[in-house]
Amino acid sequence: MAESAGPLLPTLKSIVGEANVLTAADEVAPFCIDWRERYRGSTRAVVRPGSTAEVASVVRCCAEHGVPVVPQGGNTGLCGGATPHESGDEVVISLSRLNRVRAIDAANATMTVEAGVPLAAVQDAAAKAGLLFPLSLAAEGSCLIGGNLATNAGGTAVLRYGNARDLVVGLEVVLADGRVWESLKGLRKDNTGYDLKQLFLGSEGTLGIITAAVLKLFPQPRTSATAWAGIADVAASVALLGAMRAALGDRLTGFELVSAECVALACAQFPTLSDPLPGHPWYALIQADDAAAGSPLLGEIERALAEAVAEGLAQDATIAQSQAQANALWAIREHIPDAQRRRGPNMKHDISVPVSRIPVFLDRARAALDAAFPGVRYFVFGHLGDGNLHYNLSSPAGIAPAEFIAETPRANRIVYDLVAEQGGSFSAEHGIGQMKRADLARYKPAIEVELMRRIKHALDPDSLLNPGKVLP
Ligand SMILES: Cc1cc2nc3c(=O)[nH]c(=O)nc-3n(C[C@H](O)[C@H](O)[C@H](O)COP(=O)(O)OP(=O)(O)OC[C@H]3O[C@@H](n4cnc5c(N)ncnc54)[C@H](O)[C@@H]3O)c2cc1C
Repeated sequence: MAESAGPLLPTLKSIVGEANVLTAADEVAPFCIDWRERYRGSTRAVVRPGSTAEVASVVRCCAEHGVPVVPQGGNTGLCGGATPHESGDEVVISLSRLNRVRAIDAANATMTVEAGVPLAAVQDAAAKAGLLFPLSLAAEGSCLIGGNLATNAGGTAVLRYGNARDLVVGLEVVLADGRVWESLKGLRKDNTGYDLKQLFLGSEGTLGIITAAVLKLFPQPRTSATAWAGIADVAASVALLGAMRAALGDRLTGFELVSAECVALACAQFPTLSDPLPGHPWYALIQADDAAAGSPLLGEIERALAEAVAEGLAQDATIAQSQAQANALWAIREHIPDAQRRRGPNMKHDISVPVSRIPVFLDRARAALDAAFPGVRYFVFGHLGDGNLHYNLSSPAGIAPAEFIAETPRANRIVYDLVAEQGGSFSAEHGIGQMKRADLARYKPAIEVELMRRIKHALDPDSLLNPGKVLP
C-alpha cells in the first residue's frame, strides 16, 4: 500500500546510493518535461540504478510501496511516454547508468548491450568491430538503446533492415514485481513457444523495464551512394521509389521524402545547411549501400537516376561525391525536427499508409485541411520507402501558434480519419505515450484493445509500470 515518501526514499538510496536519488526541484526538472515541451509532470524522485540488479531492487521496492514507476531513457520520445504525470506520485527510473556494451560476438553477428547505451555509441561499438548496427535516427546522439527498443523505433534504414524490433534476438527485462526475465542467448532461431520479447519491444515501459538486449549486426557497407533528387509531385516520388528498388534491389537502404517547405525551414534555421538543387517542390534523399568493396553501385545509381530524369520521375538529381557531401545531404533531412521545434509549436502526425496510397492520402488531407484551416502550412517529410510520413502542420499566417495548437483534436480527427480510410496507422513509429491514447481507443479495433488490456493485466496487475500510458 502507498506510504509516505519517508520510508521509500531511504530504501531507494540504500539500493542505488544517495547520489543517485535526485529529489531537488532543479535536478528532477529535466526528467519531468518531454523533448517537445508539451508535457510537464512531477515526481517523488529520479532514481538512477547502475545495474540490472539495482533496477530490479528499485522496482521491487516501489512495488512494495505501491508506487508507480516511469522508465526513462534519453527522453527524446515524441508522445510524452517518458514524462511522469502531474500528480507527483511516481518515481522516474532513469536507465542512463546502465551503459555498458557487455559483449560483441562477431561470429554470431550480435552484440549485447545495456539499456542505457546511447544509440550512437551502439553504432560506434559495432563499427569498431567492423560491423554495422543499422538503426539510425536524428536523435541518435541522445536517445538510449533501451528507449529505442521500448518504442520500437523506426528511423532511416527501415526499408532495408526493419524496425528496432526486427534487430533484436535477445532481451533482459525487469518485471513489475522486480523479478528479472533474462533471455540473452542471441539465437536467431528459437521456436519454443511464444516470442515473449516481442511483447516488451514497443510497449513503452508499460509491461516491463528493458535492461539489456542482444542486437543483430550486419556487414559494414564498403560502397555507399547518397543522392538528392528534385521531384515534381508525390506520385512521381512513389514511382521513383519503385524505379530505385528495381535498379538497386535490397541495396536500397533508405528513401526519404522531403518537401521544399521543410528544406527551406531547415536551411533558414541552420544557415550552414544548403539545398544543392533549389527550386523543386519535393525532394527524395536516396541512400544505397553495398557490403562489397568496389561494387558497381555508384554507376548503377547514376544510370537509374538518369533514366528516372529522362522518364520524368525526377526533375533533376545529384549524387554526393564524398562522404562530406553525403553527410551534408543527410544533415538537411535530420535537422528538420529541430528546425520545426525552433520555429515554434506545430502539430505532428506520424502516420503510415501503404506506399501506393500516399498520393491519394496527401491530396485528400490537403483538401480537407485547407477547408478547415484556411492558410494552414504543411511541413511534410519522412520515410517514404516505409509509407511513413511526418505530416506536420503549422499555424496560418496571422494566427498565433497557441490558438492553432488548440485546434489539435479537430485536425487530428481529419488526418487520422483519412489515414484510416486508406488502411493506415495513426502512429507509425513514435508510439502512443500519453498523447495518442484516445486515438488508440478510436482507431484500434475493440478486440485489439481488449487483448492489450489483458496482456497488461497479466504482466502488471497493479498497474505500476508507466500507468496512464499507451492504453486508453
Ligand atoms: C530529433 C528527433 C528525431 C527523431 N526521429 C525518430 C525517427 O526517425 N524514428 C523514430 O522511431 N523515432 C524518432 N524520434 C523519437 C525518439 O527519438 C524515439 O522514440 C526514441 O526511440 C526514444 O528513445 P529514448 O531513449 O529517448 O526514450 P525515452 O523518450 O526516454 O522513452 C520513450 C518511451 O520508452 C520508455 N522507456 C525508455 N527506456 C525504457 C526501458 N529501458 N525499458 C522500458 N521502457 C523504456 C519510456 O517510459 C517511454 O514510454 C525522434 C526524436 C527526436 C527528438
